[in-house]
Amino acid sequence: MKALYKNLATASNRELIVGVDKKVPLLNGAEATYINFDNAASTPMLKPVLDTINQFADYYSSVHRGNGFKSQLSTKAYDDAREITLNFFGGNPSDHVVIFGKNTTEAINKLSYRLDLRKTDVVLVGLSEHHSNDLPWRQRATVYHVEVDEQGNLSMTDLAKKLKKYAPKVKLVALSGGSNVTGAILDIDQAAVLAHSFGAQILVDCAQLAPHRLVNIKQISDPAHIDYISVSAHKMYAPFGTGALIGRRETFEQGDPELCGGGTIAVVTEDKVEWAPPPDRDEAGSPNVVGAVAFARALRFLSEFGMEAVAAHEAALTAYALTKLASINGIKIYGDTRPSTAHSRLGVISFNLGALPASLVAAILGVEWGIGVRSGCFCAHPYVTRLLGLNKKDIENFRLSVMKGDRRQMPGMVRVSFGIYNTKLEVNRLIEALDQISAGAYEGTYKQDEYTGDFSAKGWQLKASDYFSL
Ligand code: PMP
Repeated sequence: MKALYKNLATASNRELIVGVDKKVPLLNGAEATYINFDNAASTPMLKPVLDTINQFADYYSSVHRGNGFKSQLSTKAYDDAREITLNFFGGNPSDHVVIFGKNTTEAINKLSYRLDLRKTDVVLVGLSEHHSNDLPWRQRATVYHVEVDEQGNLSMTDLAKKLKKYAPKVKLVALSGGSNVTGAILDIDQAAVLAHSFGAQILVDCAQLAPHRLVNIKQISDPAHIDYISVSAHKMYAPFGTGALIGRRETFEQGDPELCGGGTIAVVTEDKVEWAPPPDRDEAGSPNVVGAVAFARALRFLSEFGMEAVAAHEAALTAYALTKLASINGIKIYGDTRPSTAHSRLGVISFNLGALPASLVAAILGVEWGIGVRSGCFCAHPYVTRLLGLNKKDIENFRLSVMKGDRRQMPGMVRVSFGIYNTKLEVNRLIEALDQISAGAYEGTYKQDEYTGDFSAKGWQLKASDYFSL
């Protein structure tokens, strides 16, 4: 391991990130150091992760089915990655299992299949959920949405009311640990105790929370335990195509896997199939061993760095950004806008700038300032349209337009989201940019694409091959 990572206390957070100082082209022909404020979508890679993958690459081979040294080593690395993941989330091997897959979306879809739901079963889903923690449940059960307030906080009163109303049909309460719209953090203990008191299980979608706070699944005997956790490695500095479903082993000990084939079986005859025990039963085909190794290295790194240090760094940045953003002309910030409570939310801030379309603001930030942000509804259409104050008619109108292939009227917000390496200087640059944009001071002439709803500047061409090509 390079000296750089030996002493985490003194290493600058920026030195730990791959590509952090890369320059990108601007509309005026100049270049600027890229500012990535889109960490809620995907974080960049950690150098320790890339180093580990480079070292592992020399020994990478097939897992589980090979006898050669490299196969044995790769199999051990894959098994170790599973153990590290289980430990990181506080699980124990007799009660819990880690199932690796592509991402959070796959993890939740897998769980929705494995819970063996009927349309008569009820799943309670937070109103602010990402579509990945809403649509899989709608497909397989009857979903009722639990109210979320304007700050992004789930109404425990409404959760209790709905549990009472629909028990014993409620099989699961599915909530995100942290909102990808407002950055609000769920009181997991309270929600879990409530769900369990009505005999329901709880899934906490930790795609947003786990990169910023330590999540503990807890012993099953604890009423505040979590039954299932879903995560994505690409939001945790290890973008090599892995995610995980961590959950109750007993759920995966019975029933058919969602996908079947190689790896999922104990024995097959011409007319009989015996499924393998978990986790193999639910990991069909050759697994993504490189992704799992990368994920485990990132988790090790985060443990050593300390999740408290992650939270403290991002809270300071969020408080700073909220204070500065408040001075921008015409800005409307959604969710909790108080800098003083930044430590109890994530560094995810969504806003609009006067009447400017969110996708226009995002385009200007991208091509005139080299700042990467996200705009739109962040895969949470029901909640974003609620926060924007749209009525049923507005929603139906843009829905019909989208169905006709016209996304120009799509409502949205601009979202900035922080990681461990972002700095106040970067926030200053964002503020400078927004100050100017809000005053109409931007150089490009932008036109909107009817189909995507995205804005692009006249004369701007993505000259990708100057930077990277295959
Ligand atoms: N849940 C939440 C809260 C998210 O923010 C995201 C990603 N934006 C997802 C689920 C889906 O994650 P993935 O795309 O990695 O499957």
